Amino acid sequence: MTDYRNFIGGEWLESSSCTTVENLNPANINDRLGTIKLSTREEARGAVEAAYNAFRDWRNTPAPTRGKIVARFARLLEDDKENLAQILTREEGKTLAESRGELARSINVAEFCAGEARRLNGETIQSELPANFAYTIKEPHGVVALITPWNFPVAIPVWKIAPALVAGNTVVFKPAEATPATAVRICELLEEAGLPKGVLNLVLGSGAEIGDEITNHPAVKAISFTGSTATGIKLYEQAARRGARVQCEMGGKNPVVVMEDCDLDLAVQSTAQGAFGSTGQRCTATSRAVVVDEIADEFVSKIVELAQKMRIGDGANPETEMGPIVDEKQFRNVLKYIDIGREDGAEMLCGGKRAEGDNLENGFFVEPTVFDRVSPDMRIAQEEIFGPVLSVLRVKDFDEAMCAANDSQYGLTSSIFTNDPNLIFRFVQQIETGMTHINSPTTGGEAHIPFGGVKMTGIGAREQGSTALDFYTELKVVYVDYTGRRREGNLY
Ligand code: ADP
Repeated sequence: MTDYRNFIGGEWLESSSCTTVENLNPANINDRLGTIKLSTREEARGAVEAAYNAFRDWRNTPAPTRGKIVARFARLLEDDKENLAQILTREEGKTLAESRGELARSINVAEFCAGEARRLNGETIQSELPANFAYTIKEPHGVVALITPWNFPVAIPVWKIAPALVAGNTVVFKPAEATPATAVRICELLEEAGLPKGVLNLVLGSGAEIGDEITNHPAVKAISFTGSTATGIKLYEQAARRGARVQCEMGGKNPVVVMEDCDLDLAVQSTAQGAFGSTGQRCTATSRAVVVDEIADEFVSKIVELAQKMRIGDGANPETEMGPIVDEKQFRNVLKYIDIGREDGAEMLCGGKRAEGDNLENGFFVEPTVFDRVSPDMRIAQEEIFGPVLSVLRVKDFDEAMCAANDSQYGLTSSIFTNDPNLIFRFVQQIETGMTHINSPTTGGEAHIPFGGVKMTGIGAREQGSTALDFYTELKVVYVDYTGRRREGNLY
């Protein structure tokens, strides 16, 4: 059992708060990892001040030197990979294979960002005037707040912290209440990598209290948030009042479109992977399958067969294919949506309740659930559930499929299953999502490829890949006149 501490100004400090939350293993709530104290607003302010005080020296540290520290962090992550994967599974519930995959992605992201430190280039621009030119410099904002969710508690913090640091910002990191252990370990490794005191500060606690305090602090110049749409939009509104920069990655309701000419087994397996992988608790999870009538019966019977065969259990067991829901609140929320689906008249083909069986009684396990004949106006077709629940919408043809697929306030990712190149390119053109996949699941991404969504899913610059540093830098334009004379022409 550990008592998690805040990391402020380079010191591991115990919070003075008396309000505590237990960090429980969602596969077995009798397994307690530790206790988190919900930090006070004053402690959150202390973290912002520490970051503020560290900013001047950090911004003046050459970018390649900053990158070297992030590169060292990547190597330490590599060395600690198995340990962190075990903590991640025990804390969040995903299977060990999924945790190892998340670690691999995090290492790639850290390596990629470390390399970007040597490419923090601007551009030189020709002038209309002789003996004049202009150039641009990328500069950091100052203190940035990084607010992260529990579902990818290693990868998401790393894909925000690494570019923020490389760009020369100092950081206040507020992870989700449910995943303090992974957050603490990330900060320990960054400390070991040689990050100067105060450059990265961790505050553990409630979003409504310290998250609110941090996002409203005048010294916080930019906020990168991943989480629910309700919180993201609130934060965006608050930040707008004082002109702070915001990047939000919020909800999703990702569709797959399945056409009659597709490789049906591939479509079924990929949809199941997208819907039930990571227990459906991914921003990129498949939550809607839009299937043309001609093959809908066969599609649903095959996917139900796969869903019923899934081995549910503790993610630490190598046999397990699907772990638990992260905590009781989310668990109840998923079951609530299953009830809503039934009440709204969707046809539940499998799952629909708490999973029972050996060693499942003390965890938050839900059966993989498939609803058929879901109509676009039903809540289970519109609202993000964040659990292993798939809604099948039957449609007449491609045009109807596109209407159904785009009938969503969200726009993160999508995929199509077809072998018709014309349909593929019509789909790519028409689909309203920030990312899309052809004949593969809606999930998955790579460290060097931009990630993000449109509509109510995403606000601000894309994360990761060639765009990873966009949010964390401001552009300064410099005009240079080397004539040594009063300017003769006019520039408007
Ligand atoms: P989820 O449903 O994934 O838990 P939330 O949006 O509630 O989504 O949480 C995502 C992150 O936002 C967490 O770190 C949480 O503590 C934080 N958070 C929640 N409410 C606020 C708020 N009002 N201001 C800032 N951060 C918040």
